[in-house]
Amino acid sequence: MKLDNWIGGRAVPPAAGEYLDNIDPKTGRAVGQVASSGADDVDLAVRAARGAPVLPLDERCALLEALADAAEKRLPELAELEALDTGKLLSATESGDVPRAIANLRFFAQLARTISSDCHPTEDALNYTLRQPLGVVATITPWNFPIVLFTWKVAPAIAMGNAVIAKPSELTPSSANLLARLFSEVGAPAGLLNVVNGTGPEAGEPLATHPYVKAISFTGGTQTGRLITGLASPLLKKVSLELGGKNPSVVFADCDFERAVEGVARAAFFNTGQVCLCGSRVLVEASIHDAFVDALVAQAARWIPEENLGSLISAEHRRKVEGYVKLAREEGGRVACGGERAGPEGGAFFAPTVITGLPIESRAAQEEIFGPVVSVHPFEDEEQALESANAVEYGLASSIWTNDLTRAHRVAARIESGMVWINTWNKRDLRVPFGGMKQSGVGREGGRYSLEFFSQDRNICVQL
Ligand code: NAD
Repeated sequence: MKLDNWIGGRAVPPAAGEYLDNIDPKTGRAVGQVASSGADDVDLAVRAARGAPVLPLDERCALLEALADAAEKRLPELAELEALDTGKLLSATESGDVPRAIANLRFFAQLARTISSDCHPTEDALNYTLRQPLGVVATITPWNFPIVLFTWKVAPAIAMGNAVIAKPSELTPSSANLLARLFSEVGAPAGLLNVVNGTGPEAGEPLATHPYVKAISFTGGTQTGRLITGLASPLLKKVSLELGGKNPSVVFADCDFERAVEGVARAAFFNTGQVCLCGSRVLVEASIHDAFVDALVAQAARWIPEENLGSLISAEHRRKVEGYVKLAREEGGRVACGGERAGPEGGAFFAPTVITGLPIESRAAQEEIFGPVVSVHPFEDEEQALESANAVEYGLASSIWTNDLTRAHRVAARIESGMVWINTWNKRDLRVPFGGMKQSGVGREGGRYSLEFFSQDRNICVQL
């Protein structure tokens, strides 16, 4: 399978004729090739996008719904491509990623139909707000939830009347490319949605700096986010950044123990720990620390490679995860379970890993590992729990496990993260603000926040 770019409603080979291997992380074998694009390809896509018509709102939303219908018909194929690219299990992409992507398309189509604008009348004048598209916008997305994040950005961008150039991760390009093709098949005009494949430095940077690209919606690592901001901000582009996390799961002794252990394990190991929202630091009240660690280790044993735990994204990423486990040992941590490769030879599987005894300020407890690895840290009281929870540069998400709801609200207000779950984790409503504090991001996505990002408000004042 050879993937070209999707530009102006057709497949276009990369200008330089170069391709990258697309590797299946579950076997380590190349399953295809993907275009390695550069500035010329980006420029071609921008020209195509600029030539796309701005359709009426109803037509844009109907097209997104038609794409959702088409994706639903091709769900098995999309799920297979997504599993092949990412190393996820097919059961996960079939029941999770692809249905969620379809829901994103329908959700933003419906929501955009309901937007209204403000009116500020005075005695002798009438002000009204016009919400208009930005023009050509770019989306740059990572490999951990390729189809979910592609639709999460592209749907609101299209719904608000923009033309889009999407750059999926070079490691996981297939679902975005198929969706772009399907969009053309259901009647989207040429240039409305373009996909440029390739690496960040070669394809992402020219996209982020192209003079006609008005906004960049980026999800990925914090370092990359900083780099893109450094390039795009002097050009005065609108930038939205959804970045990394080192999220605390805070467990108080008065929690519902069984429910908390199960929830904390899910927060740690779901998607093989490759979730920006993953609870990778478990803070547990000292009086239940040992019992909790035992129960968490027992839970970890229920996450079995190939059965309900996919592989990591690549052999290279697994080496990074292994490096962090080694570092944790050097920093005084004790590996209570896991810490080693698992699953079949050739695949990038890694055993669920629980580490205890790590100082909270150690690198392994501070830096994003992005694998099925958690460290557990005891705390004496609420103040210390908050201190430890907030003692990282990140501030994306957190979960609090307690039956004292007064305390839960109190801690939620003081914990430094854009999203807080109480007695649950990763329960997502598409309308609510999604995004991080501190080094986890700038801006919010979801519901009206996404619609606002992909549009601009103008005021019209009429003398009465
Ligand atoms: P990454 O930053 O390496 O890459 C993300 C995207 O940016 C890819 O498409 C990549 O090709 C592109 N890119 C890389 N360098 C670039 C450059 N110089 N210019 C332009 N584009 C560039 O991230 P990743 O490894 O693909 O994904 C994992 C990271 O994403 C983790 O840190 C994770 O926490 C984060 N993430 C955050 C969220 C969130 O919503 N906050 C969601 C998912 C993942």
